[in-house]
Amino acid sequence: MSKLLQDQCRNKVEDAYRLCEKHYNRKFPRVKVAFSNRMTSSAGYAIWDTSGQPSEIRLSNPIMVTNGASFVYDTPGHEAAHIIAWFLYGDDIRPHGPEWAGVMQVIGLKPEVTHSYKTSTVTRKFAYRSKCGAAKELTIIRHNKLQREKVQYYRWPKDGVKVYKDDFVSEVKK
Ligand SMILES: [Zn+2]
Repeated sequence: MSKLLQDQCRNKVEDAYRLCEKHYNRKFPRVKVAFSNRMTSSAGYAIWDTSGQPSEIRLSNPIMVTNGASFVYDTPGHEAAHIIAWFLYGDDIRPHGPEWAGVMQVIGLKPEVTHSYKTSTVTRKFAYRSKCGAAKELTIIRHNKLQREKVQYYRWPKDGVKVYKDDFVSEVKK
């Protein structure tokens, strides 16, 4: 599922570029589109390299997986709009100012900054009790990997405790 969504995000970035190239009648250099498993509070970033050139769009894999189509619909375009606005107007613009908003409109997206992504499931915790009786918690990503048998167990290096698929107790309510 993750791979398919990643492809869809890459296509969305390319669509955004093409729409802007047509509208502004010029070319914009492409950037790398990468996915991070560690981004759990931000849906995406546009990244500039040390020479000041846009180099990457980095998207949150967990937030993408949690939100699916609604994430694909606007996050890749939102980040592409930051980069295209930079090529058009340079550094002296506000990140979500009128220049960026104009590019968003060309891409066909509402220039809204606050999205309603569900990040709550990203921080959901799942309780396990190991064979030796230790209580442990796993993130949803690790929990899913274990339950889907992508991994056999998780081991905490500090105390050596291991939990297996059938050590799952319940979701932690906080
Ligand atoms: Zn933004």
